[in-house]
Amino acid sequence: MVDPASYALFRRRAVGLAPAAFVLARAARTDLTRGELASLPEGDLFRRHAEAMEGYRAALARDEGRALAATTPPAGEASLLDLKVELATRLLAPCRLCHLRCPVDRLAGETGRCGLGAGLRVYRDIVHLGEELELVPTHTLWLSGCNWRCAYCSDWAHVERPETDPEVALERVARSIDARRAEGARSLTFVGGLPDVNLPGIARVLALTRASVPVVWNSNMSATPEAHDLLEGLVCAYVADLKYGSERCARAGSAVPASLEVVHDNLRRVRAEAWLIVRHLVLPGHVDCCALPALDWLAAHLPGARVNVMGQYEPLPEVRGTAWDRRVTADEVARAREHARALGLDLEGPGPLPPPDAGTPDGDERAASPAVAFESTIRIGSDGRVVFEDLPPDLAALAADLAGDDDPDLSARRRAARPWAGDPGPAGGG
Ligand code: SF4
Repeated sequence: MVDPASYALFRRRAVGLAPAAFVLARAARTDLTRGELASLPEGDLFRRHAEAMEGYRAALARDEGRALAATTPPAGEASLLDLKVELATRLLAPCRLCHLRCPVDRLAGETGRCGLGAGLRVYRDIVHLGEELELVPTHTLWLSGCNWRCAYCSDWAHVERPETDPEVALERVARSIDARRAEGARSLTFVGGLPDVNLPGIARVLALTRASVPVVWNSNMSATPEAHDLLEGLVCAYVADLKYGSERCARAGSAVPASLEVVHDNLRRVRAEAWLIVRHLVLPGHVDCCALPALDWLAAHLPGARVNVMGQYEPLPEVRGTAWDRRVTADEVARAREHARALGLDLEGPGPLPPPDAGTPDGDERAASPAVAFESTIRIGSDGRVVFEDLPPDLAALAADLAGDDDPDLSARRRAARPWAGDPGPAGGG
């Protein structure tokens, strides 16, 4: 029996020994004509989707979907991936992609909290080595727009004003994915911004992609159950934020109402569907109210989960004079990490994928491919600090050594004006 939540399956997909989830969805049948796809009511289409997903899961359990991936639906029949694209598009009117459920018709050009219409805006496209070791090198696409407004967001301009980023041709994005995979990228990460609010465009891109590459979904985990129905069968791994231990802190830090239960429900759900890495960014003054309770919840509900406790919080100029205006201390990060260890959570992970030219543990040479190129940025901030962005872990550690910094998590921050400048922040620990 194949466990879709296991790292073993993700690894086999990453090295080319098992088909990616969306490749199976493209091969899976629905018994729907294309005419029915366009004309049937949404409720009927979701019922047909649930039936088709049973076939998808059975094929995955049989042989990791290899036999299914070698087939195509008969001419004129919609595939499971076509059905996902149609349903994701229908969720735009009114928008039901995330828990905010804004009463807007994005197909008609109306916008909700995320500020997005129906198109896809990509503001960065690189091969990234600075992610968790089991994911890299990962072809990473940064998508404009998000439903939350975090005081420490590193991509504020693309979140607050997504309309200033260019809308991209989906075919061009798909060809970029094919090219990066051929160069040796082991996974395909959608980040932002937030991929959840961009699901219809992403599903369309995947329908146009020829390469088989496992999709990694980097999310605040606030999508609706309907959207998550569609994500199963597209996503092979989640990089999921678990940011807060209370609604009060979520409101203070991300200006978001009633989110904890949504995030918890989604974390429980996806753990059964894909490889899951949970990230917790330690926030200044939020160890007792957020880090420790979040890790407690994780240990109670997802025992042994893979977790990355991150210490690179960096205050931005716009929060000067507020409680957000300091870096986290080494003691705060150490307390959170020690707590995670004591709870039996997995801070280390499975380690790196085999190098592109080393074949696989099975000795299969299909994994061989040229070394992948990557891009990094080095900036000098207005305060004179040198900031590294997107460095692979070995170079990040070297940079930290040179800088005399104990924490190799170095990152850049770009920022425009934001509403938290006057916010008292987390003083009092939420
Ligand atoms: S994705 Fe979320 S924030 Fe954006 S319009 Fe839809 S419900 Fe609103």
